[in-house]
Amino acid sequence: LDPSFENLSPTERDIEKVLRPQAFDDFTGQEKVMENLKIFVAAAKQRGEPLDHVLLHGPPGLGKTTLSYIIANEMNVGIKVTSGPVLDKPGDLAGLLTNLETGDILFIDEIHRLSPLVEEYLYSAMEDFKIDIMLESGPNARSVQITLNPFTLVGATTRSGLLTAPLRARFGINSRLAYYDAKLLTTIVQRSSEILKTPITDEGAYEIARRSRGTPRIANALLRRTRDFAQIKGNGEIDTHIARYALTALNVDEHGLDEMDNKILVTIIDKFKGGPVGLKTIATAVGEDEGTIEEVYEPFLIQEGYLMRTSRGREVTEAAYKHLKRIYHNQSGRLF
Ligand code: ADP
Repeated sequence: LDPSFENLSPTERDIEKVLRPQAFDDFTGQEKVMENLKIFVAAAKQRGEPLDHVLLHGPPGLGKTTLSYIIANEMNVGIKVTSGPVLDKPGDLAGLLTNLETGDILFIDEIHRLSPLVEEYLYSAMEDFKIDIMLESGPNARSVQITLNPFTLVGATTRSGLLTAPLRARFGINSRLAYYDAKLLTTIVQRSSEILKTPITDEGAYEIARRSRGTPRIANALLRRTRDFAQIKGNGEIDTHIARYALTALNVDEHGLDEMDNKILVTIIDKFKGGPVGLKTIATAVGEDEGTIEEVYEPFLIQEGYLMRTSRGREVTEAAYKHLKRIYHNQSGRLF
């Protein structure tokens, strides 16, 4: 269950769009972030100015893209969507920027993956709403300055640590999205089931919610799969029984850890005596990309108290041993 958008099938992407909240009021959770954003949006609207540039960071599937669309809706402006790896030439960026109307939003997903050349180009666009473009090439080459319509850049990143200081400094608003607790996710699952016209009990919704790695995208994905089980194995309604049955079939364990979460923990325990062990070594041992482990798996395992990041590498905690029913040896080597 990879929570990254790129790995969804086209049908799943369409369903995700249907489930996407459209206004501040449909968006559940992230209270502090939302409270501030609502004020910044209202103030900018009142002044008739574009919103300041916004940086959204946090693990995949927590609502960064959703929030960008909501901001555009609430500001009554247009939105153009692109991503760091797609924008590989300054010319691509220039094309987008010159087509923005006053106040429009340019959403750049994975902004930490912009090439340095494109990133530098963005600086003057963000700061002075001006860009230099090259006309012709060779001996006739000359650059002309173009003034852009004032716009709002919304950048999203799963790895804010990889952002350069000059880029980070150009965002007036900087918001970090956190994992959702089970109660908030229950609300999200209930809202989605209503849209999907799937009957669900409160307990059924909670069971899916608490096993969704704190991530709305995963909660919605699990809901859709559980709906299939309810339809074929039950009477169409999702209750705790069907939810448990489906989640077990989907290899989501009692604590909401999926196969890869568990594989990472088991590997560190069985092959590296519980750690400390370097990220690269873990990645090779479990056959998963280093960046994915760092962005997707590790933050949740750390938050849930199964893993620690130390100066010498990653170490599993006593809770991980308990969870996996392994015998825990404490630091002095004695049985715990
Ligand atoms: P990100 O851009 O952070 O990877 P998205 O904004 O694409 O995440 O969100 C993934 C899915 O989760 C969306 O389809 C949306 O339906 C759902 N979602 C995210 N946050 C919320 C929320 N706060 N309330 C309801 N649904 C949400």
